Amino acid sequence: MINEAILDIVSKDFIYSVVGKCNGCQLCEYLAVSNFARDRGSSGFQVVRQPVTWEEKEQCQEAMERCPLHGIVRTERATPQCES
Ligand code: SF4
Repeated sequence: MINEAILDIVSKDFIYSVVGKCNGCQLCEYLAVSNFARDRGSSGFQVVRQPVTWEEKEQCQEAMERCPLHGIVRTERATPQCES
């Protein structure tokens, strides 16, 4: 049986970013190694690549949910509107 919540996450196009406090725990990089990395010049972490594959989307979602400081947010990418 397909998990409805996972299907909802991977079917949408979210943009992730670290906007809150970051203690440098490295959990986000551990969970989504292709998408998070330490920010050079600081002790915090940043999104270095937005998720593309369903696997990356799932991993970024988990990183957001498990960040101990709730510093990772997501926004849904706007769909271009066609002019008629
Ligand atoms: S999981 Fe959160 S607190 Fe930990 S390094 Fe990533 S952004 Fe920072």
